Amino acid sequence: MKEFGVEDIKPILDRYNLDHHLIRRGFFFAHRDLDKILDIYHSGREFAIVSGRGPSNKVHIGHMLIFNFVKWMQEKFGVEVYIPLSDDEKYVFGKVKDLNEAEFFAYDNALDIFSIGLNPKKTHFFISTRYPALYRYSVTLSRNLTFSTVRAVFGFKGETNPGAIFYPIVQSAHILLPTIEKGLPVLVPIAIDQDPYIRVVRDISAKMELFKPAAIHSKFLRGLDGRPMSASNPKTTIFLTEDESSIRKKVWNALTGGWKRAKDQRKYGGKPELCVVFEWFSTYFLKSDDDLKKVEMECRNGEKLCGQCKEELIDYLTDYIREHKRKRRESIKELRGTFMHEVNEEIMSKVEGMDDESR
Ligand code: SF4
Repeated sequence: MKEFGVEDIKPILDRYNLDHHLIRRGFFFAHRDLDKILDIYHSGREFAIVSGRGPSNKVHIGHMLIFNFVKWMQEKFGVEVYIPLSDDEKYVFGKVKDLNEAEFFAYDNALDIFSIGLNPKKTHFFISTRYPALYRYSVTLSRNLTFSTVRAVFGFKGETNPGAIFYPIVQSAHILLPTIEKGLPVLVPIAIDQDPYIRVVRDISAKMELFKPAAIHSKFLRGLDGRPMSASNPKTTIFLTEDESSIRKKVWNALTGGWKRAKDQRKYGGKPELCVVFEWFSTYFLKSDDDLKKVEMECRNGEKLCGQCKEELIDYLTDYIREHKRKRRESIKELRGTFMHEVNEEIMSKVEGMDDESR
């Protein structure tokens, strides 16, 4: 919090009744102006959430954690949710071979996100290069940012392509879109390492006399090896397309806080605070504090062995993904209506075809 200059979330929790297990357990731990935006809400005005996705790969459970939280906010505060899909970002930073590949993942990822049960009337997807007004907004914002700021914040070098240099402006336009189009103040749920983007867009907003976007900051969900979960580390990440045998193989290699030998575990107990399996219980599957406390105590007392926990996690993940795949198939028709521009039917039917194959 010190390093990024953000506020602790704890002092404002009771005032706004923010009782979500991810906040209670410190996964969302900091904010910028969250209190301001909730005061606006309590004075009878609406606000919007912007939560984007860079479409260069399949969605994994770490991404979905944030969107599940967004869904909770949408239900609690009735907010409009905007989900920019940055095909341009993935292309200019060389994460996909061409824009078509990014567009395919954009529709595919949108389907995953939408099928968690977001309200179709209040959810708005757009793909950067398919929403023409975005270019106009980006150009308008660009006069309020200098190249030296962009270079200092993002570490760009002489060999960086101009698309990448322009991208922070496009991302600012993503975030400010509900303010520009509908006058809605914006809240952005974001991992703490992305805070520099928020600082840039807040500077721009101040210069343009727009509401400075608020942010709520999360930690990373750790992958099975204990490092932040990333699609580029597939062995330690669970994607929403996994089947049971691949989940089993991955989870059995998970980092835990237990002992190799069962007799040591029984004698000394484990350390749940080091354990990825426990972290996934805490963030995803055990929403009741009593259930989580029980696992924690059994681990510390040595009553529980890591093998048991891993088997439980495999069951939770398998059920979760099976159910997710079912909801995905059901959601595709309604997804079309949530896009702010015409849908590319050729690509959408490929996404649809993939779901038919997995039946
Ligand atoms: S017993 Fe469970 S919670 Fe404890 S360290 Fe092992 S896997 Fe983690």
